[in-house]
Amino acid sequence: MIHYSCDRCNKAINAEEEIRYVVRIDVQLAIGDRDNDQIDEASLAELEEMLDEIDAPSDEFTELANAKTFDLCSQCYSEYIDNPLAIETIGLGFSKN
Ligand SMILES: [Zn+2]
Repeated sequence: MIHYSCDRCNKAINAEEEIRYVVRIDVQLAIGDRDNDQIDEASLAELEEMLDEIDAPSDEFTELANAKTFDLCSQCYSEYIDNPLAIETIGLGFSKN
């Protein structure tokens, strides 16, 4: 039996009894929007930093694109899909008016 674990909460996922979700994140520089020589170091550093935060191997980064896949349990999937960019919503004021 193949065991998976959720990449978000580390919970073990029993693939025979639970639904396992695979999230594929494909990060690309939109280089078609600008001249190649205008890709500055700041943009590259920013992207590399983002990739580092999700433990991406930096050697793939040199291709200016990076695809990562994550296994998610159903709970994390529902939370992820509601807010895939992890935008902080606390304090934005869901006013009842
Ligand atoms: Zn999870």
